[in-house]
Amino acid sequence: PVRVRFAPSPTGPLHIGGVRTALFNYLFAKKNNGVFYLRIEDTDQNRFVPGAEEYILEALGWLGIAPDETVGKNEKFGPYRQSERKQLYQKYADLLINSGNAYYAFDTAESLDLHRKQHEEQGKTFIYNHHNRDKLDTSLVLSKEETVKRIASGEEYVIRFKTPVNETLHLHDIIRGDIKFETNLLDDKVLFKSDGMPTYHLANIVDDHLMETSHVIRGEEWLPSMPLHVLLYRAFGWEAPDFAHLPLILKPIGNGKLSKRDGDKLGFPVFPLDWTAAEGTSKGYKEAGFFPEAVINFLALLGWNDGTEQELFSLEELVEKFDLNRVHKAGAKFDPEKNKWFNHQYLQKQSDESLAKAFAPIIAEKRINVEMNKLITIVSAIKERAHFVSEFWELSNYFFEAPTSYDEKAAKNWKEETPALMQELISVIENIGDFTSLNIEIIVKDWMTKNEIGMGKVMQPFRLSLVGALKGPHLFDIVELIGKEETIKRIEKAIT
Ligand code: GLU
Repeated sequence: PVRVRFAPSPTGPLHIGGVRTALFNYLFAKKNNGVFYLRIEDTDQNRFVPGAEEYILEALGWLGIAPDETVGKNEKFGPYRQSERKQLYQKYADLLINSGNAYYAFDTAESLDLHRKQHEEQGKTFIYNHHNRDKLDTSLVLSKEETVKRIASGEEYVIRFKTPVNETLHLHDIIRGDIKFETNLLDDKVLFKSDGMPTYHLANIVDDHLMETSHVIRGEEWLPSMPLHVLLYRAFGWEAPDFAHLPLILKPIGNGKLSKRDGDKLGFPVFPLDWTAAEGTSKGYKEAGFFPEAVINFLALLGWNDGTEQELFSLEELVEKFDLNRVHKAGAKFDPEKNKWFNHQYLQKQSDESLAKAFAPIIAEKRINVEMNKLITIVSAIKERAHFVSEFWELSNYFFEAPTSYDEKAAKNWKEETPALMQELISVIENIGDFTSLNIEIIVKDWMTKNEIGMGKVMQPFRLSLVGALKGPHLFDIVELIGKEETIKRIEKAIT
């Protein structure tokens, strides 16, 4: 059965790349009637950030991709927090020691630095591996008694993986295909420290095994760890999961990975929710007014498509169509404009009622009283031009208050004969009984035809009087919504 995981380290807010990893895991799980679980990888206590774990869960919940199993939820393979699994890892480190796949190393930081320096002086890089592992201060050169004595006396040590020598590994990645890797290029990674804490590599492999992970789907930055991970599974005698390394998310401009700084620079969120730290607040999608469905849709297409031109997918459709084999190798450019476009699309899909409800507090803040029905009509007239609800006021303020200034360029349409024409228009409007858009339009146009008045001569100054600029939806819709009295008032104001 398919069991996949998202395994973030709670070191800060969840970056958009992490969200994309979570999403692809979620889609793959649901597509295959499998389980998507969340594991908190918090073994590095120095990097632990309070609130980060809660943030991750809240963000996934808001996006609608909450895990099936995690801390406090269906804890079938729990605990799901690695710090609470601490006692467990020692046993597995010991297993590797006993099978000869790992060894104790007592090197101090100073002696390692010295080695590094000596190598540099000879123009070489110091890698802790088969070249030097048995010349260093390790259990490979000490007697068993000596090793036991040193550990018992409380001397600091680490347990390192004993990487096999002279072997070509044949690895397979669902996205990248076959990869060859020489074990001689690997260093003997630290698996366990004398403070009783495992490193990422050991804890990750042990837990992926114990939690019966079928596929490891994660960011490309973990590809270099894959050889070690595969070797660890082999050393334990466990079957390795399948691997899929997702392409990088690239900066919108220039090269390289999208970073938090890019978001700040562009004034664009790269986090799902606001995150406040000592350095300030990083903007989140939610607070910036994005619909979670729009964020999901946008992220799904960062590195994947279904092979057609289709761009709009609901979460259900994504589940149905998602295919790991269709994920690209090449990095995916993060395009903020496209992101906004998706939000625009999802905004159009919302009902006018729900959009009006979202707009109402903004109106209330301006101390404007307006009936819900009218607000719904206004919203339906302007939403086509909006990417966010927060733009509604800017797009619709003229419905609520007379313009206080007139667009200079547009004011050029205000000619010498305009005031007289507008005066006539007022008397036409005064006499309209059924004050609905279509009827107003018929009567006004009829008056223009009969008097042989050119369209532009009336329509543009008319719009300018009501809106203050030559923008907005169908003019007679505006007239109906503003009402007779206010329409006349605004024309009069424009004349003077
Ligand atoms: N804890 C790792 C991270 O922060 C997990 C990497 C993996 O999925 O193996 O991304």
